[in-house]
Amino acid sequence: MPVDQVIISYRRCRNFINVLLLRSMNLFQPVLVEGPSEQLVVSANGICWSEQNLEYRIMVNDIFDIAIRNDDGEVPFNLVEKEGNNLAFGLSLRRIRHRALDERTVHVEQKDLLLCIDPFTPCSIHCGICANKLIGERQYLQIREVPMTTMIPQNYFCARNKLAVYPTEEELFYGLNYLVISIDLLGIGVTTSKDYGTIQCSRCKQLVGELVGEYLGRSVAVQLYADALRLVTTDSPFEFKEIFGHITPTQIMIRLLHDADPINMEKTRLFLKTVRPDGQLQHLHLQMDSKQIHILRSELDTSDLEMKSNADLPIENDTSSESDFDILLSDTSSSSLNPQTGDDSMKRIDPVPKPEAAEPLKSVKYLKLRGFGGFRLKYLFSGSDDELNENYDVTSSWRDQGTRELRISYSMMVDLVSEFNTYERVAAALEMNSPPIKTTHPRLTYIIFEPDEEFYARQEKITKIAG
Ligand SMILES: [Zn+2]
Repeated sequence: MPVDQVIISYRRCRNFINVLLLRSMNLFQPVLVEGPSEQLVVSANGICWSEQNLEYRIMVNDIFDIAIRNDDGEVPFNLVEKEGNNLAFGLSLRRIRHRALDERTVHVEQKDLLLCIDPFTPCSIHCGICANKLIGERQYLQIREVPMTTMIPQNYFCARNKLAVYPTEEELFYGLNYLVISIDLLGIGVTTSKDYGTIQCSRCKQLVGELVGEYLGRSVAVQLYADALRLVTTDSPFEFKEIFGHITPTQIMIRLLHDADPINMEKTRLFLKTVRPDGQLQHLHLQMDSKQIHILRSELDTSDLEMKSNADLPIENDTSSESDFDILLSDTSSSSLNPQTGDDSMKRIDPVPKPEAAEPLKSVKYLKLRGFGGFRLKYLFSGSDDELNENYDVTSSWRDQGTRELRISYSMMVDLVSEFNTYERVAAALEMNSPPIKTTHPRLTYIIFEPDEEFYARQEKITKIAG
């Protein structure tokens, strides 16, 4: 079975990596004769997996030196697990080249939010449920993002010990899933509760925002939840539009991380909530490692086969493995897997020597790795009243500890949870945990930061497969 993808995870400040070889039947790959000759070779500069007449070489020597012998000359413990067709193992590291790792990592910057309100087009803001007009038709001549990236605009508009800043009637501020405008713009479409600081649609009673700050005993700004609202502009007066365009899970998380509450040196926390269009409240508790995780992933397209005749494996044989394949460790120089220099220095030691003529041509494939940054986290999703009840203890203890609840849109919640589901299997396989199951306990996953175009390309592929 061909190797579809190689995934290597490295947690900052650790001295080991986890490696996962994902293998599957692929009808478009050359047919291989099935046989027992699977072999994993680990040397200081890379990993080599061979099966029948196909050999995969994964070079990591520009980033890591893999420890093949420890200081006492013993083989470091390498746990290998085979789950289905997939293979996972951990490797100790002798050296990590952080600069090379960072250079290999795709850097994703925070992008601008796609606000659908502009200073040139008059617009009105309506309730997303009953279409009631909440803010009448007007033009916001000055539109800008809240100058500090946060889901808690109070920190900017009524920050302690700072000169209070409030929007005028011509100004509109915005951030992830919210708008901040002057309180003087509120009309009969909304009712405000001074006691709770909340703003509701006066017709359907939906919660649409909250009061921000207080100046001389009076709130002067309001924060409106963009997902609870719809927009009508004068150039398309019959269309109810979303306030913001789509945002990828990567971009959601980059922004949310600004508001993560540190709970100790190693963990931070986010408490997210949303309201489903039918009114169902949903919670998402996230507990994240503060230190970044690096994921090195092979390109999905592995169609280029390099044909080589009987490429010798530069290995030292060690058949003590209890797995159903051989694990071999090679402590030769870092050039041992290098195609230019590796073939002359080592001799192949086979358990059963075969006559030269009987060996088939061997295809050698080099798997190139790309690096991604991200975070390892545990998540607890409560999507129904039953689940909210089951997880009530977590919710109330987080509230007691002062963790802020951040409101995101329902589509953001769907995207985040589906992204977490996607990487849950990868995380379990890499860390050699049992496959994920539905549980009331927090579940381990990763968020991997990828550029927008790669996210949308991936979604398109999934849609094509599903369709
Ligand atoms: Zn309404």
